[in-house]
Amino acid sequence: APVITLSHVSKVYSNGTVALQDMNMTIQTGQFVSLVGPSGCGKSTVLRLIAGLGGMTTGSIEWGQSLTENHKLAFVFQEPALMPWATVMDNVRLPLKLAGEPKQKADQDVLEALQLVSLRGFERSFPRELSGGMRMRVSIARALVTKPQVLLMDEPFGALDEITRSRLNSDLLELWQEKRWTVIFVTHNIYEAVYLSNRVVVMAARPGRVVADIPIDAPYPRS
Ligand code: ADP
Ligand code: ADP
Repeated sequence: APVITLSHVSKVYSNGTVALQDMNMTIQTGQFVSLVGPSGCGKSTVLRLIAGLGGMTTGSIEWGQSLTENHKLAFVFQEPALMPWATVMDNVRLPLKLAGEPKQKADQDVLEALQLVSLRGFERSFPRELSGGMRMRVSIARALVTKPQVLLMDEPFGALDEITRSRLNSDLLELWQEKRWTVIFVTHNIYEAVYLSNRVVVMAARPGRVVADIPIDAPYPRS
């Protein structure tokens, strides 16, 4: 079933930049879609519009019913944006705290999320004590702790070295194969897109638009 449908979406920023022109895209539940294309082709704009951060100029976006009822979207940015003064535990707990979840239940959910990203044992660490890859795992745990139906990731591994990036890629793929969330993943790394996704949407700039929409056979099975 479609979870997100963009119909004829255009976005012109207030300074006149046409960031997107006539974008059409239907994302099915459980798909892992990568958006690739050169800097400035509107990838982040698409994610922000899907997240409801800012309005479009023309066109419409339809969200699946379960999504509108539960607000089950989570966003992961290139910068982990952790609170430096707070422990890993407190960083990951933040969205649950904001949602008013009772502490005991929240703690249990946080430990589960840390388990998913292989960070059990680091609950009391502070962000400065962790490597870049580990900080990104904390940021992913903070997104997963809300049990989102759709995970929006904007160049999440762009600032990491290649080895850390490929480790995170294979862990993310393994997680997705287990959980089957819908993932929309922005990257300009075509290798990463093909490795992770079962669909690659290629965009071009000026104006931002879709130039190819490529199904990829199921991601490589893990041995
Ligand atoms: P909108 O058209 O949605 O009202 P604005 O033009 O008001 O958007 O910009 C929103 C925010 O994005 C502002 O804080 C602005 O500083 C920032 N911004 C402006 N230009 C760019 C750009 N080229 N890339 C990224 N962010 C930008
Ligand atoms: P990408 O993520 O593919 O690099 P973006 O969605 O960030 O592309 O940007 C698409 C175009 O819109 C670019 O030309 C960018 O400079 C411009 N842009 C992005 N955000 C803003 C903003 N807030 N205000 C004005 N222009 C923006």
